[in-house]
Amino acid sequence: MRAAEIQDDLAQILVTEEEIHAKLDELAAQVAKDYEGKDLILVGVLKGAVMVMADFARALPFHAPMDWMAVSSYGASTKSSGVVQIRKDLDTDLHGKHVLIVEDIIDSGLTLSWLLENFESRGAESIEVLALLRKPEAAKVKIDCKYVGFDIPVEFVVGYGLDYAERYRNLRDVAVLAPHVYS
Ligand code: 5GP
Ligand code: MG
Ligand code: MG
Repeated sequence: MRAAEIQDDLAQILVTEEEIHAKLDELAAQVAKDYEGKDLILVGVLKGAVMVMADFARALPFHAPMDWMAVSSYGASTKSSGVVQIRKDLDTDLHGKHVLIVEDIIDSGLTLSWLLENFESRGAESIEVLALLRKPEAAKVKIDCKYVGFDIPVEFVVGYGLDYAERYRNLRDVAVLAPHVYS
């Protein structure tokens, strides 16, 4: 697929790479302050959070070990199924650790509320969430996401790690996927 064809699949650029980087620098400064003197572990949710993790972690001024978890709740569809499955578990014992979950986007919040419960049962000392994007639906579930990049409208977005059927993850910006791609 060529660049021009990929551009045709996008309805609108929502957040640019520059805006994302500036926001992640800001959030990293806040996290650095909040976790000063504490042992922090970053847990990225594969695969969507890969780009967020890469840029956010490099903006932190101290050691921040990373671990990864892969869960599935969407498959190749654009709607959350509500059924969460572990595809890859953590390598780290979370007992007594200060965990910061790094997420690409919170939509229904189903995945996250499941993860929070799961991590609590592993005995983490504290658990907070950083999400680059948040959709309004997320307000309906009782999830305390301490660090949020951007609140976006109810649209299916791709880019900066976010995919549709494994495509578009490598786009630099976050864009609304044109409905003709999936309808
Ligand atoms: P939730 O459980 O909060 O509904 O969403 C779980 C996961 O679905 C997110 O972490 C993300 O990977 C995926 N997701 C939710 N909304 C979107 C979206 O607009 N675009 C893409 N590409 N993935 C999404
Ligand atoms: Mg995700
Ligand atoms: Mg996906």
